[in-house]
Amino acid sequence: MSSDVKLPIYFDNHATTPVDPQILDAMLPYLSSKFGNAASHSHSFGWEAATVVVTARKQIASLIGASPNEIVFTSGATESDNLAVTGVAEACKSKGNHIITVATEHRAVLDTCMHLERSGYRITRLSVGADGLIDFDELKAAFSPQTILVSVMAANNESGIIQPLEEIGGICRERGVLFHSDAVQALGRIPLDVKKLNLDLASLTAHKCYGPKGCGALYVRSGVKISPIIHGGGHEGGMRSGTLNVPGIVGFGKACEIAQNVLPEESCRIAGLRNRLRDRLLAELEDVVVNGSMEHRLPGNLNISFLNVDGEALMTAVKDIAVSSGSACHSDKVDPSHVLKAMGLSDEAAGSTIRFGLGRFNTEAEVDYVAARFVDAVKKLRELSIA
Ligand code: PLP
Repeated sequence: MSSDVKLPIYFDNHATTPVDPQILDAMLPYLSSKFGNAASHSHSFGWEAATVVVTARKQIASLIGASPNEIVFTSGATESDNLAVTGVAEACKSKGNHIITVATEHRAVLDTCMHLERSGYRITRLSVGADGLIDFDELKAAFSPQTILVSVMAANNESGIIQPLEEIGGICRERGVLFHSDAVQALGRIPLDVKKLNLDLASLTAHKCYGPKGCGALYVRSGVKISPIIHGGGHEGGMRSGTLNVPGIVGFGKACEIAQNVLPEESCRIAGLRNRLRDRLLAELEDVVVNGSMEHRLPGNLNISFLNVDGEALMTAVKDIAVSSGSACHSDKVDPSHVLKAMGLSDEAAGSTIRFGLGRFNTEAEVDYVAARFVDAVKKLRELSIA
């Protein structure tokens, strides 16, 4: 069964992605001989580091249709989300105290909003349908004169559902309200043009597009004012102090350059693999439900409930295949996924759900192996529960 594939198989590319060898090669010199601090203006070590940071800023900006001076480097998207939401809340507090977000957002947005709520901000959490999408009428009705920010993620890390950012951004622009998106799962996977999507702020991270962990960015549209959450040396236009992670930034830039070159073909290939997996699981098993819209979904995502099967038991039965039963970002918790619950799944259905995340390095042989192993494991677990 496993002759064509190397075990273990990684199908959890929403949690993180393997580092692309080309990206590692680009980073390595900046972890050894080229160790300068990009803020050292008085010698060649610093100039060399500053030069590669300029290049990376251009590569990242180019992938999202931004200007290089609109990219603020951070430690990752958790920080970018915190900076966007708290930074706007603080900077716009004389204008209002109301923020609109969605029940299915990542914890980095939801928990930041909850924190602000405790200090007097009002938070509206929009619902989603069974398809995972928000409703425009509910969004329009949520605005008040105090609304200062709308935060809606580009693509969900569990369901893979892609929200219609262009329309949402248009609704925000008409009302003069800032629009932020956690675009982590979309970057490098689907086209993401901040101007076309009417975005004012967008959170990005390198490790979901084959770059290193611990390096992210916040796109801040030129002219948008946010308050910093980290104070210090005034780096990044005063929006994010701290010595720049030069090797990480070089890797992030390279990741974006590669993504820009391979994007349409790669997405197509990955969607083909994902569809092959879906078709086999649906054809060979009964009581299998794909959660959310297939049409508005990331190419590599498949979120499936294997009814009457415990997701944790299923993952244990296929230990040589890395998948997830919920969001990897809070996988230490056993609570049913807040995303699946918001989409209307019962606790039981959420508990029988597996998230497959396919990526750049997956192959057709791996898909066939994974499909066969899951079909076999689901059948056996169902037989056991009847016995
Ligand atoms: N937002 C989303 C949608 C994510 O999937 C993740 C991933 O873990 C994060 C934010 C947090 O990103 P980071 O790991 O860079 O802090």
